[in-house]
Amino acid sequence: MDPALGPPDAMAEKRDELTPMMRQYHDLCARYDDALVLFQVGDFYETFCQAAERAARILEITLTSREDSTGEYPMAGIPIDNAESYVEELLEAGYRVAIADQVEEPGESPGVVERAVTRVITPGTLTEDELLAGDDNNFVAAIARDGDRLGLAVLDVSTGDFLATSSTASESIADEVSRFDPSEAVVGPDAPVDPFPERCMVTPFDARAFDRDRAGEKLSAYFRNPDALLATDAEIRACGALLAYAEYVRGGEHDGERGDDDADDEVEPRSGVDAALDSEAAETRLEYITQLARYDPREYLLLDAVALRSLELFEPRAVRGRDDATLVGVLDETASALGGRKLRDWLRRPLLDPDRIAARHDAVAELKGAVQRRERLHDRLRTVYDLERLIGRISRERANARDLRSLRDTLVVVPEIRDLLEDAECDRLRDLHGNLDPLADVRELIDDAIVADPPIEITEGGIIAEGYDEDLDELRGTARDGKQWIDDLEDEERQRTGIDSLKVGYNSVHGYYIEVTNPNLDSVPENYQRRQTLKNSERFVTPELKEREDLIVGAEERADRREYELFCDVRRTVADEVERVQGLADALATLDALVSLATVAAQYDYCRPELLDRDARDGLAIDVEGGRHPVVERTQESFVPNDARLTPGRRLAVITGPNMSGKSTYMRQVAQIVLLAQVGSFVPARSARLTPVDRIFTRVGASDDIAGGRSTFMVEMDELATILREADERSLVLLDEVGRGTSTADGLAIAQAITEHLHDEVGATTLFATHHHPLTELADDLAAAFALHFEVEQEDGEVVFHHEIAPGAATGSYGVEVATAAGVPESVVDRSRELVAEAAADAIDEGDEAEADRDPIEREPDVSATDADTAAPTTDGGDNPTDVATELRALDLAHLTPVEALTELDRLKRLLDE
Ligand code: ADP
Repeated sequence: MDPALGPPDAMAEKRDELTPMMRQYHDLCARYDDALVLFQVGDFYETFCQAAERAARILEITLTSREDSTGEYPMAGIPIDNAESYVEELLEAGYRVAIADQVEEPGESPGVVERAVTRVITPGTLTEDELLAGDDNNFVAAIARDGDRLGLAVLDVSTGDFLATSSTASESIADEVSRFDPSEAVVGPDAPVDPFPERCMVTPFDARAFDRDRAGEKLSAYFRNPDALLATDAEIRACGALLAYAEYVRGGEHDGERGDDDADDEVEPRSGVDAALDSEAAETRLEYITQLARYDPREYLLLDAVALRSLELFEPRAVRGRDDATLVGVLDETASALGGRKLRDWLRRPLLDPDRIAARHDAVAELKGAVQRRERLHDRLRTVYDLERLIGRISRERANARDLRSLRDTLVVVPEIRDLLEDAECDRLRDLHGNLDPLADVRELIDDAIVADPPIEITEGGIIAEGYDEDLDELRGTARDGKQWIDDLEDEERQRTGIDSLKVGYNSVHGYYIEVTNPNLDSVPENYQRRQTLKNSERFVTPELKEREDLIVGAEERADRREYELFCDVRRTVADEVERVQGLADALATLDALVSLATVAAQYDYCRPELLDRDARDGLAIDVEGGRHPVVERTQESFVPNDARLTPGRRLAVITGPNMSGKSTYMRQVAQIVLLAQVGSFVPARSARLTPVDRIFTRVGASDDIAGGRSTFMVEMDELATILREADERSLVLLDEVGRGTSTADGLAIAQAITEHLHDEVGATTLFATHHHPLTELADDLAAAFALHFEVEQEDGEVVFHHEIAPGAATGSYGVEVATAAGVPESVVDRSRELVAEAAADAIDEGDEAEADRDPIEREPDVSATDADTAAPTTDGGDNPTDVATELRALDLAHLTPVEALTELDRLKRLLDE
């Protein structure tokens, strides 16, 4: 265990002898032993001992020490005012941070001031706006096992978004995890540990939280009938545990506990976890978690982590790629953070149900056509605050008066937005029109209660509007009258004393005073009492002035307290409306996302895709005319549109063409068009007719992998194995240059075997790009396969790419020409030409073309051809090569797994070498 966590050794040895404050620190460290405890001492958060040493190093702050009667302890502290940036650094360093605040004013009760952990800050449970991206969710996930089933729950603690699913295959849970890309995963004792992305913090949590009954009870505290909401026990375990964890990190529960501690020091302090597990403890409930959306992964287009990456949904593929070179980058014209998150959710989970998809298309079509209305909507939506996080803060009692005003400012525009949808025709927009509840009561309450431009602080007054509360108005009246009396005092006293320069003033130390300059001191009346002597004057008070002052101060203090009470009441009343606010937020978010899709469709000339009936056919049909790559077309001066036509009878396209001719752009654009259509978006094409796809698989260029510890070849084989195992006739598979991670012979063999398998056994719709010519023969051999190619031309010895797809296989490979274009020195290019010519003269089978990035003379046997012996590297005699050729011919590639093919090839090669 990390020595910076848990109670420091130096304190644990002598807990009972520690000073009360240090004992508090020790005990809090023991209770929150998976977090670094930041312990409030006045204006600082302090750490001690090992934690201090660690914090000092990470945060580059000074390590000091604190000495008391029991010893000397290393200490490092950060100012509370700037705590956020330090906390962020601690999180980045992999720590959870427990904030132990002073929860009473010093001197409020005898003895040491009470402290409690008010929240634990972890990467997945942030609620601080400053630490969160506005337009994206930040999820914490929990995974629980129940028999052979895994349950997954994901929660955004800042917004209350809460989803759950389950599956028997750990693979598919891993895919669901990658959809949500959680920054933290809470796991029980026997959950698998590998489905998490690298940047995800894995948090082991108390096994009891995952217990079926306890989890069920926890859920019951939130939802009336959790068994009806969820489908499996695995889901119940995951959801219940996640709620317990969310409560645990929220801390609190210090109320009423001190009595126990005082009464009996021997009692083990209750751990933070115990409190969160207690389903009776109503005060830890997170009121703004009101919805739980259980979903079946089969309702959505499945995109695993590999596909998410290679289709560039959220992250650019190129390491130095532009940030907006992603699907979400080109699609996001949302006006609000709410809409941004909704759009990302749609992209994460493209739909399968044609009706649901068509409902979105209808709305996009209507908004696309109504230019003015769309622009006005966008304009209004820009003023919408992040209602989900606002109501979350309000509900957690962390909102200030400005937050309430922000809510009110948003409610003000809701009627305008509603009006703009008054004449909406399609169901989706009509529904939204109905759901845009302007929450008039809430708005009125805030308007009546809270001043227009309130301060940030909520305890110092100036928040509650005049006329809202009689008591408050009276207190304010008293204060005002008192001040008026004092304002009048100067004139009165000048007249009474005849001192024209007499002044009434105020300072924070001495309060109100009457100032008389030295030359006039003789005229000071008897009832003046001296308070302060300055260089040129004296300051006095009178009993009447003091009395007024006390009255004013008393009234103001009471007014401030009253304001705070009233503010808390208003906040609670608003918090009671959490579900309505969330409903409104969802409607605004949906509208914003639809407006965004319509804006993109109009601006970039997208068309409405037509959905083909899923049940009418066996496989998929994709018919795109003039399709474009949504991301590449934005960065390219002119983009050449291309068609794509795939049907169950012509479902495997073998695409050839030299490097850089446009193969992978083409394949990706087909997949992205399918994906966009299922998101509900229009698509970059002249026309598109599509059957919804269940799943998109991708296996793209080996060079793109930055594999952690595994060879690129292993990664490739791993991905291919997944495709072969899981794809079916409802899948769209993209294979780009399969088999590059190994020698050409292996590569070709594997690529061919896989393609055949996909064709014969799987029946998936497949786009297969290669520049290995032998593979184009597959297009002739397999019934449902056909060839496409990118033609390039040579002009004056230079290659010209037209990026135009055409039927049939490519005639030349132009590898050498591409090398020239890429700036490979002329002498090398010339030598390559020589070698190509020699090779051709040797009349060997069509072989591998020269590649800019590989030795151009590396020639390997074409395993699908017959003359393996002539092309084999060691052809000088012996019977071996012939044996190998015979064996190769006999190989039934269609029925070999990739690994078997690999092993077999390895054996054959060895045979040759012998
Ligand atoms: P390949 O996969 O054949 O090596 P790419 O698909 O990576 O080729 O395309 C290479 C480059 O050519 C792309 O980065 C893009 O700039 C350009 N390109 C590809 N397709 C088109 C197109 N249809 N219109 C215009 N430019 C294109």
